[in-house]
Amino acid sequence: MARGKASGQIVEWDANGRPKVPDNPIIAFIEGDGTGPDIWAAARPVFDEAVRYAYGGKRRIVWQELFAGEKARQIYGPETPLPKETIEGIARYGIAIKGPLTTPVSGGFRSLNVTLRQSLDLYACVRPVRYLPGVPAPVLHPERLNVVIFRENTEDVYAGVEWEAGSEGAREVLGLINKRLQEAGRSPLRADSAVGIKPMSEYNSLRLVRRAIRYAMENGHDSVTLVHKGNIMKYTEGAFRDWGYKLAMKEFAAQTITEKELYDRFNGQAPQGRIVIKDRIADAMFQQLLLRPEEYGVIATSNLNGDYLSDAAAAQVGGLGMAPGGNIGDRCALFEATHGSAPKYAGMDRVNPGSLILSGVEMLRFMGWTEAADLVVSAIIRTINEGLVTYDLARQMQGAREVKCSQFGEAICRHIEEASP
Ligand code: NAD
Repeated sequence: MARGKASGQIVEWDANGRPKVPDNPIIAFIEGDGTGPDIWAAARPVFDEAVRYAYGGKRRIVWQELFAGEKARQIYGPETPLPKETIEGIARYGIAIKGPLTTPVSGGFRSLNVTLRQSLDLYACVRPVRYLPGVPAPVLHPERLNVVIFRENTEDVYAGVEWEAGSEGAREVLGLINKRLQEAGRSPLRADSAVGIKPMSEYNSLRLVRRAIRYAMENGHDSVTLVHKGNIMKYTEGAFRDWGYKLAMKEFAAQTITEKELYDRFNGQAPQGRIVIKDRIADAMFQQLLLRPEEYGVIATSNLNGDYLSDAAAAQVGGLGMAPGGNIGDRCALFEATHGSAPKYAGMDRVNPGSLILSGVEMLRFMGWTEAADLVVSAIIRTINEGLVTYDLARQMQGAREVKCSQFGEAICRHIEEASP
C-alpha cells in the first residue's frame, strides 16, 4: 500500500553497489515517530528547493511515502509496525530517507531500525562527522575533526542472538559452552547467566572495509583506520583487523600502504595518492579523536564500537541534533536522522531538523547531486551564523534567536534562494 502515485523513475544500481540516478528519481521517505513528522515537514522543502535551484528544474525528486512505526500501525493494524510493503518499497526504490522510529526498551517488538538494516542488508552505517562553523561545541577546536565512520551494521552483538537468564535456551547454550570450557580446563560460566552471541564474519567485515577504502579513494581521504578491540576479543575483533589489512593488501595494493610500511620504508611520508591503512584499539581511539583528530579520515569498525564512537564524535562537533547518517548496501541505501524520536517534543514544532536535513545532504551526495548538497550545507551555515536556531542550539549560543523547527527549515530555504543565481 505505497500510497500516492509517483511519476518518476526507479534508481538502478551498478555491479559495484553504486546508484545510477535519473533526473526524476523516485525517492522513498518514512516520516518516523514522535518528532519525525515535525522534522520531515521542515526538511523536505529544503531538499526540493536545493534541487530546484541547483538544476534549474532539470532535476526533481519524486517523493514516495512508505509507512513504519505508529503511522503503519494505524494503517495496517496494531501488530504491524513494519509492513512487508515498506521493506519491499525501499528495496524497489533503492534510495530512501527516514525520521526516527520509537523502540520500546523491553518486550514488544524488536527495533524497527535494526530490522530494516538487517532485512535490506544495509551493511554499512556511514556517519560523517564534521564541524559546521557557528555550531556551539564542547571542545576548543571542533574544526580539527573531520571523519567518516563506517560501522558494520548487520552482526556483532547486534545480531539479536541472545537468551534470557534462566531460560531453556540459555541453559542449553551454557551446557554446550561449559562442556567445551571444561575440556579446555577453564572455569565454567555461571548457570544463572544471560547469554548473547557476538558473530563477526570475514564476509561482512571485508565488504564493510572495502566500501570504506573505496570511499576514502573517491573522496580524497588519506587514511582508513580499522578500529577494534582485538587485544581482548581476538577471534572476532582481532580478526576484523586482520581481514581488513588482508583486503587492503589484496584488492587495493596499488592504492594503499600500511602504517608500518609507511614508517619502515617511507620515513612516515606516504607516497603520492596512497591511502594509509592503520588500526587502533577502540578505547584508545576515543582519546585519539579528542587529542589528535586531524590524523584520522575514514574509520572502519565493528557494530558496537561504531555505535559508541559515532555518537561520541558527533558530540565533539556540536551534538546529535545535527549528526547525519546513512545505511548503505549494494542494492539500496536508507538515510536517517541519527537521534531518536524525542517523543516528549512530538507535534510541538520545536526540535532541530538539522540531523535529518544533513542526512538528506549525504543522500544527495550519494546520488551524485553534489551541487544541491553544497547549496544546503552553505545555507545551513548561513542560517546558524544569522543566529536563527532551534532551542537546543539557542541555549548554548549567545545572542541567538530561538526559532521553531519549521522556521529553521524556512530560513534555510531562504538562504538557498538568496545564494542562487
Ligand atoms: P532521543 O534522541 O529521542 O531523545 C533524547 C533527547 O535528545 C530528547 O529528549 C531531546 O532533548 C534531545 N533531542 C533528540 N533529538 C533532538 C532534535 N532533533 N533536536 C533537539 N533535541 C533533540 O533519544 P531517546 O529518548 O533515548 O529515544 C527515544 C526513542 O527513539 C526510543 O524509542 C529509541 O529507541 C528511539 N531511537 C530511534 C532511533 C532511530 O530511529 N534511528 C535512534 C535512537 C533512538
